[in-house]
Amino acid sequence: MQVRNFSIIAHVDHGKSTLADRILEHLGAMGERDKRDQTLDTLELERERGITIKSTPVRLNYTRPNGEKYVLNLIDTPGHVDFNYEVSRSLAACEGVLLLVDASQGVEAQTIVNAYLAIDSGLDIIPVVNKIDLPAADPEGAAQELEDVVGIPAEDAIFASGKTGVGVPEILEAIVERIPSPPGDPDAPLKALIFDSVFDAYQGVIVFVRVLEGQLKPKDKITLFSNGKHFEVDKVGTFSPGLVVGESLTAGDVGWVAAGIKDIHDAQVGDTLMERERPITDPFPGFKPAQPVVFSGLYPTDTEAYRKLREALEKLKLNDAAFSFEPETSEALGFGFRCGFLGLLHAEIIQERLEREYDLDLIATAPAVIYRITLSNGEIFETQNPAEFPTRDRVDLIEEPYIKLSVMLPEEHVGPVMQLLQERRGSMVTMNYLGKRVELIYEVPFAEILYDFHDRLKSISRGYASMDYEIIGYREGELVKVDIYVNNEIVDALAVIVHEDRAYPLGRKIVDKMAEVIPRQMWPVPVQAMIGGKIIARATVKAFRKDVLAKCYGGDISRKKKLLDKQKKGKARMKQIGTVEVPQEAFLAVLSTE
Ligand code: GDP
Ligand code: MG
Repeated sequence: MQVRNFSIIAHVDHGKSTLADRILEHLGAMGERDKRDQTLDTLELERERGITIKSTPVRLNYTRPNGEKYVLNLIDTPGHVDFNYEVSRSLAACEGVLLLVDASQGVEAQTIVNAYLAIDSGLDIIPVVNKIDLPAADPEGAAQELEDVVGIPAEDAIFASGKTGVGVPEILEAIVERIPSPPGDPDAPLKALIFDSVFDAYQGVIVFVRVLEGQLKPKDKITLFSNGKHFEVDKVGTFSPGLVVGESLTAGDVGWVAAGIKDIHDAQVGDTLMERERPITDPFPGFKPAQPVVFSGLYPTDTEAYRKLREALEKLKLNDAAFSFEPETSEALGFGFRCGFLGLLHAEIIQERLEREYDLDLIATAPAVIYRITLSNGEIFETQNPAEFPTRDRVDLIEEPYIKLSVMLPEEHVGPVMQLLQERRGSMVTMNYLGKRVELIYEVPFAEILYDFHDRLKSISRGYASMDYEIIGYREGELVKVDIYVNNEIVDALAVIVHEDRAYPLGRKIVDKMAEVIPRQMWPVPVQAMIGGKIIARATVKAFRKDVLAKCYGGDISRKKKLLDKQKKGKARMKQIGTVEVPQEAFLAVLSTE
């Protein structure tokens, strides 16, 4: 049986999951029972937010019009910058990709990044112009853009719609004709790339692999290249979708392995599986253990929920090697956890899952990056926690992570976007014109895009700008810690690290926002921002109870009810700071756009 391994890559929302569903449907791989939208997006959250977090492969049987039979392994990739490393590992499991472009949007930032990931992996690219059913579609224009920007001939493009199914038969034929069959020697020593893993309560970690060389079957003794740990294969199989037990996996196959691995950190994406008796010396290159780069404190609003939160975090971590947490205590918030994430979206997803799947009410502190600090005594240490930031007089040098940021946008918005990047301490590397659009490449401190950057970018470009980034290293920065005091008591969890030049405006913004969201008390409550004990901004919560209904003129009952509900919900997330109740919003004041 002939095999083709392929993936679908695209900018987010260009229709990857929808097209994958049409392909499954066309090949009869979706039973009526589980025929619902976006079969490959398995988590409830993924379906709701329309993003793909975990790559879920599926094995399809395809009979060509001429009668030849093929097995097509489709590997769905996450489309977001936070998960780029996982995208490139998934791609390494394939020989070719469908590169989708929305016919009404054209090429976007992640179209380019994903296309280059595929080119760098040596894959064959089938360009697909998708959503041609849309009234605003310009398929020829989008195909031409792909040629201009990525260098893929416009005439190779297939015009398709994941909505109507048009183009799907042509896509299947192109997969067979244009993508080569997988190479590999079934008799060579085993070499299998791990491109994903999930945790199962009964089997332990189930590893998703692409067998590059050799074979894998039950009872085989295997070793992980990165850490030398040994395991015995219990079961192997394929995806149909869902796990189907098989007899063996051979060079070229995509499948899964259960080998009694208990800890997901032992089987990380990008690592190589090999035989215990015939170890290899040339693993799949570029393995890097998942490293969190964005950190934030998570605290239960109800102190009783601490244990429940810890159990939930432990469960989530079983399935996500990129996520980390450790206990942390805050004077203001009590017992909680310092959590590490791959990026802001990853952080949001974890927090949302905790609240939704585990029914927890959480307060999240402002996200931070890892700073590298050289003390006056020569000692160097790294911290992502404002609470551990030393006072200025003890510090010689502070360094912060920088990213290379690429932004794609229509040329008429270039001015304001460049101004925004300037405000965020960015420096321009290049600017490329691609027809009517511009690609801006900047180097920017990573911390500067954690605060409302994406929202600002979208709003000043009327939604047309898209972005992507990679971390490029550490550079010196004049950074200070801004402390926040409420009612003359320090609220440790509100401290933020920020560049000197931005400390005053940010301090102002935080105290104003806090004064606005803290409910009025029987006495006036001062809110202050300080650097090293020196006040840089101050505001006062006035001494009356805020009447939320005062804003409603006339008798719009439903609106009043909404406001009251909103206030009630806000109340549930209050945190007692000394004698003052501070709502969750206050902890996010630093992130607010206004
Ligand atoms: P993904 O983020 O690339 O996986 O994109 P999705 O498949 O989730 O699609 C994003 C949005 O575009 C959804 O609202 C889909 O309903 C819509 N969409 C996807 N494909 C098509 C298409 O071919 N035509 C039209 N009109 N809409 C589509
Ligand atoms: Mg999707």
